[in-house]
Amino acid sequence: MNAIEISNLKYRYHDGTEALRGVSFRVLPGECIALLGPNGSGKSTLLLHLNGILPEKLPADGAVKVYGDVVSPANIENIRCQVGLVFQDPDDQLFCPTVAEDVAFGPQQLGLKEADVSERVKKSLAQVGLEGFGHRSTHHLSHGEKRRACLAGVMACDPKILVLDEPTSDLDPRGRREFKALLRLLPATKIIATHDLELAVELCARTIILDHGQIIADGRTVELLSDEKLMLAHGLERPHILHHLHPH
Ligand code: ADP
Repeated sequence: MNAIEISNLKYRYHDGTEALRGVSFRVLPGECIALLGPNGSGKSTLLLHLNGILPEKLPADGAVKVYGDVVSPANIENIRCQVGLVFQDPDDQLFCPTVAEDVAFGPQQLGLKEADVSERVKKSLAQVGLEGFGHRSTHHLSHGEKRRACLAGVMACDPKILVLDEPTSDLDPRGRREFKALLRLLPATKIIATHDLELAVELCARTIILDHGQIIADGRTVELLSDEKLMLAHGLERPHILHHLHPH
């Protein structure tokens, strides 16, 4: 069964901007997919559809399916347990005073007992390398720590699918390296919107390129990213990391 199936997904914002113009693709369980494209190509809009944050009024038309279930008002709670979304800006995601409270929020919403919630918080913080950070204020974390805290909050709900919007955009080189190593260890199916082409090459066997709300290419990362003409045509570039792998 497909982890995700998107069929002819279209979305227009209130001001008339057509952000998605008929997007279709399938994701198998365990895949790790890079979603590339220039700014404004529709990446964030697409990710927000994967767990029903968009559209504002959920239709039951079958454009988005998660493990065979149509994302609809009837099963939105269930879908949100299965699809964990890490926002582009950690400050949009973190809203509790302390890290532990923030990470606990999801499992509490799932209705778990307090002891189980604590267990999940401890486990998720350890998973992201934030042991002992539970009592810290979410406002006083570094960028990298905020990213990790957001990931811990999502992991605490034990989703089968992880969706990340530019997870390394504000990290320094070491922070990026560490965050990529962390992602690599997580077994969930992953869809990662990014401008970090090294991340795409290192973590994602498959890449989907969006431009103007449409899929321009969907295939093996190394092949697509080596195609200089394709990359340049869509505001991207061939990453340095591929130059020594596939010298011209
Ligand atoms: P990306 O994540 O690839 O940068 P987005 O999904 O953010 O692309 O944006 C896709 C298109 O939708 C762009 O033209 C953008 O200006 C527009 N858009 C994004 N958010 C909104 C919004 N809240 N209202 C109106 N237009 C929006």
